[in-house]
Amino acid sequence: MRHVLGFDLGGTKFAFGIVREDGAVVASGRVETLADQGPAQAVRRAIDGARELLASSGFRAESLLGVGIASPGPLDIARGCVDGSPNLPGWTGFPIAGEIGKAFGLPARIDNDANAAAVGEFRFGAGKGFPNMVYVTLSTGIGGGVIVDGRLMRGANGNAAELGHLTLDIKGPPCPCGGRGCFEKYASGTAIAHRARAALAAGHPSSLAALAGGPDKVTSHHVLQGLAAGDTLAKEIWDETIEYLGRGFAVIINTFNPDRIVVGGGVTAAGDTLFGPLRKKALGYAFPRLAAVCTIAPAGLGGDVGVVGAAACAFEAAR
Ligand SMILES: [Zn+2]
Repeated sequence: MRHVLGFDLGGTKFAFGIVREDGAVVASGRVETLADQGPAQAVRRAIDGARELLASSGFRAESLLGVGIASPGPLDIARGCVDGSPNLPGWTGFPIAGEIGKAFGLPARIDNDANAAAVGEFRFGAGKGFPNMVYVTLSTGIGGGVIVDGRLMRGANGNAAELGHLTLDIKGPPCPCGGRGCFEKYASGTAIAHRARAALAAGHPSSLAALAGGPDKVTSHHVLQGLAAGDTLAKEIWDETIEYLGRGFAVIINTFNPDRIVVGGGVTAAGDTLFGPLRKKALGYAFPRLAAVCTIAPAGLGGDVGVVGAAACAFEAAR
């Protein structure tokens, strides 16, 4: 079996792993990103960590097919670097893929983390066997990746499928992307927490502040806890979230005609509380002919999705 190295770059951690061509993570490790200290130190420590991992697992770099790197976007794919990512200020232009590739003497490519996750879920996870698949991650923001006819849709410069920035309301709140009323401003974990806090500040009676240990500490997880405990405000916030998600997913279904939407990210911890009503709303709002062929399923790769997705992109590039 062939192997690659996968790197998952995030604002707080930089994970890496040796991944087999069936998607199994043979060995993995991580270092702190310390993003505000710049890219050189983080990339250096991740390279050192991956070298140790190879040595301790009995692998030689020459025996690997290549390197894949998943990173928050936007990216300059051709130059292998971050290009203005809000999570990685000061990183723009640093040749992440070039440095890592050079260190191991292997071809290295960088992809947007949600796009890499889409390739990972398509090859090894809940999207396997669905050639027209959309991956959506619901976490602090909303990310997306689109597989068309079995291939990742990268777009003109590798930044396709910023699904979190579909406009749901032209009069909505401003978004760091420069737009207004973006999908992620209503339905991400951050947005759920924000709407709950705003309602508490406006004096809505609720047990959420007590659950969280203060109104400013409420997260999306507390909203879910409150929902399970019968809190009225939590139910209102959640129902509204499902409504936004249903509208956003309907746009995705009508645009890409997917046979499956795979949903990952922290908000999916809600399980059937999310998937039951989301399926009903999204498929109800989309064109019936497109809804009829679309299934919506939880992601299959769990916490390994970053490293496995990056690896999946390396396997795709090597074939
Ligand atoms: Zn936006």
